[in-house]
Amino acid sequence: MTGSIGGDPAIETSALTKRYGRVTALDGIDLAVATGSVFGVIGPNGAGKTTTMRLLLDIIRPSSGSVRVLGEAPREGGPALRRRIGFLPGDLRPEGRVSGRELMRHYASISGLVADGRAEQIADRLGLDLTRQVRTLSRGNRQKLGIVQAFMHDPALLVLDEPTSGLDPLVQQEFLAMVGEASANGQTVFLSSHVLSEIQQAADAVAILRDGRLVTVSDVESLRLTAVRRVRLTAADIAEDAVRAALAPLPQLTALVLAAIGSGVRVDATVTGDIDPFVKAIARFHVGELTVEEPDLEESVLRLYGAREGSE
Ligand code: ATP
Repeated sequence: MTGSIGGDPAIETSALTKRYGRVTALDGIDLAVATGSVFGVIGPNGAGKTTTMRLLLDIIRPSSGSVRVLGEAPREGGPALRRRIGFLPGDLRPEGRVSGRELMRHYASISGLVADGRAEQIADRLGLDLTRQVRTLSRGNRQKLGIVQAFMHDPALLVLDEPTSGLDPLVQQEFLAMVGEASANGQTVFLSSHVLSEIQQAADAVAILRDGRLVTVSDVESLRLTAVRRVRLTAADIAEDAVRAALAPLPQLTALVLAAIGSGVRVDATVTGDIDPFVKAIARFHVGELTVEEPDLEESVLRLYGAREGSE
């Protein structure tokens, strides 16, 4: 998505490339992240998600190409730019004989921008006890501390590397609500995951990275339209051949498994795109059970990956 909600994009990369010796971690990435949007980056391990984020934060520098963050080049923005960004690293390991509160105070004293009580308020929402020693915290609680640290100065841009990892489902929901509120507040959120379903509800746009290349950038709604649905049903008093003859010609049918049950047939079908012709086709059966699983963006994405692989 190149459209911009609020004027200039919050992040813009042009032919952004990072090489480590012979390994090309990132290969010519062009991205525009609209100000105020929630932008998800999805990809399997090693796709280049972390590399992209480190380039945004000027932790590493591009081999070629360029990047602008909040209108500035990260290498020129210095601490002033850094203070406008909240960063949750993927490999966060807060250590030390300090409490969460002391650690947050320390960070706050560096940025100088944290409103009174803000860290406590976020910690409360996530169910994190800030009085506990950081080194005694479980992985999930350390991740919560990382989220508090990223959000507490209400930065213009949040860069969050696998933010939901280690969080239980209820906390994940609370976190995604925080992401939605940040976006409503005009903040831009750039977050990564290797599981699309975790962020599909929060993201306006999703970029899919694989092997350092951009497979696609899409708004979540159009990914939904190319969605793959799994339909399971039973048809009574009919033979397998008749069911196959009725369904197999449908171009939307991408998989079909039939099994005889009593005098009928159990159907397990995968339908891609428009579901209507399939519904019309099964209308002639005597349908017993019927389940249609929600379009799974992850499957759509895997299909996109597959399509790319096939065409290469
Ligand atoms: P993960 O989900 O595993 O964190 P990722 O999408 O974040 O994956 P990156 O960490 O960005 O992927 O890695 C992209 C590629 O660059 C990988 O092949 C990785 O091995 C390589 N890479 C990353 N950092 C370095 C480095 N410092 N030296 C050499 N290769 C590196």
